[in-house]
Amino acid sequence: MAPQQTSWRATVLTLFPEMFPGPLGVSLAGRALAAGLWALEVRDIRASATDRHRSVDDTPAGGGPGMVLRADVLARAIDAVEISPDRPRLLMSPRGRPLTQSRVAELAAETGLMIVCGRFEGVDQRVIEARGLEEVSIGDYVLSGGEIPAMALIDTCVRLLPGVMGKAESGADESFSHGLLEYPQYTRPQEFEGRPIPEILLSGDHAKVEAWRRAAAEALTEARRPDLWAAWASQNQPKGKTGG
Ligand code: SAH
Repeated sequence: MAPQQTSWRATVLTLFPEMFPGPLGVSLAGRALAAGLWALEVRDIRASATDRHRSVDDTPAGGGPGMVLRADVLARAIDAVEISPDRPRLLMSPRGRPLTQSRVAELAAETGLMIVCGRFEGVDQRVIEARGLEEVSIGDYVLSGGEIPAMALIDTCVRLLPGVMGKAESGADESFSHGLLEYPQYTRPQEFEGRPIPEILLSGDHAKVEAWRRAAAEALTEARRPDLWAAWASQNQPKGKTGG
């Protein structure tokens, strides 16, 4: 099969370019990268430093521990990227809006994005404002840098790009895509340590299998994620508890 034309491009600004492609170079994302279904461009922020020590950070104004990424250096790195103005420019940040599957779907539908990876105590607030960076968080915990969060974000987008996943519909039925967590999955052997696969799944009755999965997804979501459940139940008619 002829490789499809690359359209979706991730441009990453980091102090540690050697971390890429890392996990994005293997399995689903790695195969898609090699096939040209997406492109990765990694820029070293330090290349935009101008003093002879090539410094990129300095002590926080007002005092306190750690260092802060300088606004002027980062702005120069951002301005050196040739990117159409409509492409999203993101900053990975624990203070950002938590990433959701619906935002991921929007980002995957763009022609690509630019991602700034923070380090140290974070980046100077003025460059966030001056370059209109959208702050995105991958969860309520703190990592030591934005590279792993950037990889997580890119991975979520890449698997939704056309041609990346085997079956076109395999992204449509997953956790979060309908506002519910996914139903439990099973495969051979039919019995594992005395635990059989639920009988309905082996019945070949597609309508019953569908109903079982829907009920199981509802039960899981209600038990584990009251936040998702409340939002979903207000929009949908719950089918009720899993039978037998
Ligand atoms: N002092 C900052 C944390 C800095 S962590 C604070 O308290 O808000 C250093 C860098 O790691 C951040 O600039 C960001 O780019 C990245 N990072 C850490 N946790 C993250 C998260 N949950 N989501 C996205 N990026 C994160």
